Amino acid sequence: MSSEKLIYLDNNATTAVAPEVFEAMRPYLCEKYGNPGSIHTFGGSVMAEIETARARIAALIGATRRDIRDKFTEVIFTSCGTESDNTAVFSALRACPKRKKVVISAVEHPAILTLGKELEKRGYPVSYVPVDSKGRLDMERYEEMVDSETAVVSIMWANNETGNIYPIEKCAEIAHRYGALFHTDAVQAVGKIPCNVSDSEIDMLSLSGHKLHAPKGIGVLYVRRGVRFYPAQIGGHQERGRRAGTENVASIIALGKAAELAMKSIQDENTRVKALRDKLEQGICGSIPKAMVLGDPENRLPNTSLIGFEAVEGESILMMMDRLGICASSGSACTTGSLEPSHVLRAMGVPYTVAHGAIRFSLSTYNTEEEINFVIKEMPGIIAWLRKLSPFWKETPVS
Ligand code: PLP
Repeated sequence: MSSEKLIYLDNNATTAVAPEVFEAMRPYLCEKYGNPGSIHTFGGSVMAEIETARARIAALIGATRRDIRDKFTEVIFTSCGTESDNTAVFSALRACPKRKKVVISAVEHPAILTLGKELEKRGYPVSYVPVDSKGRLDMERYEEMVDSETAVVSIMWANNETGNIYPIEKCAEIAHRYGALFHTDAVQAVGKIPCNVSDSEIDMLSLSGHKLHAPKGIGVLYVRRGVRFYPAQIGGHQERGRRAGTENVASIIALGKAAELAMKSIQDENTRVKALRDKLEQGICGSIPKAMVLGDPENRLPNTSLIGFEAVEGESILMMMDRLGICASSGSACTTGSLEPSHVLRAMGVPYTVAHGAIRFSLSTYNTEEEINFVIKEMPGIIAWLRKLSPFWKETPVS
């Protein structure tokens, strides 16, 4: 069993840089390498290109407000989604010094969850909104947790493991009712589903380039005009003093191009990619006993499918898939290597025998029907082989 071809179904971990994106960024590494802060035209002229990229990102997330110089200053370039998440929460805590409470969901990415644990150590009371067995947010509990002592709420727009989409607009409205600031980690949502900050009460939003076909090491923090902001990085005047450090010009240009492409590919994500994802799920669950889709059947990202295979070890499935050139993840990429089921599956109360065998398939606009057919054909053999070796499967009657 071997395959020359790579079938990449791990796009929630990272994506390929789109060829158009690479072409757009290349000159800024080799020819137009000047510092945008320089007085000379060679460097200074690059600043106009950065502003074009900023405008394209603003358009993708609906951050349409401009300052008096016609700039989309609500968009701040950072180094990644994690930096944007951390900066947002720390800034909010400084902006509301009289309030100490922080509310996040129990299924946040470690970029927020680990921060929550750290804030607890520093004496901030942190509440974790629970989810149900399908990973849906418990909105009643959420509303009970937010009060006039809450400084900031951070709830992700879409979950990286299940693909579940959360009612962010409603969450922001509730946070504001109590005077708390609202941040959303939209790293998995932007580029896959329409995300529009202008018709919501979202104060801050994080996104990351490498999830939407731009390179790794570039992110954005959107900060709504009028929201008090405290930078995490102090130094030069870059990003109007809100994120010091010489701009990562090539990656900023790349992200601008990726945002432009995403405006068009969102349609494809929600039709063709979604149809491929549905075909994959039906093909796998229809041919393999005790294989089940985990997550919200109604409200999920169009590219994501988390499938639990009872009584098999996820790592072993991944290794056998890898030999065939198929890339996927067990739980989230960031928890790969740990034998504990991911915090998301534990929060959902998924039984251990299923959670251990959970595989996340995440597609992109570059996947083809031929690839999906190949995966559907190969998965039953992989699972049957591993179940033959599994002591847990013998105890489990085949239905
Ligand atoms: N938030 C979510 C939901 C993610 O899925 C990820 C990465 O997987 C991050 C944040 C972190 O983004 P970055 O890798 O750009 O730091």
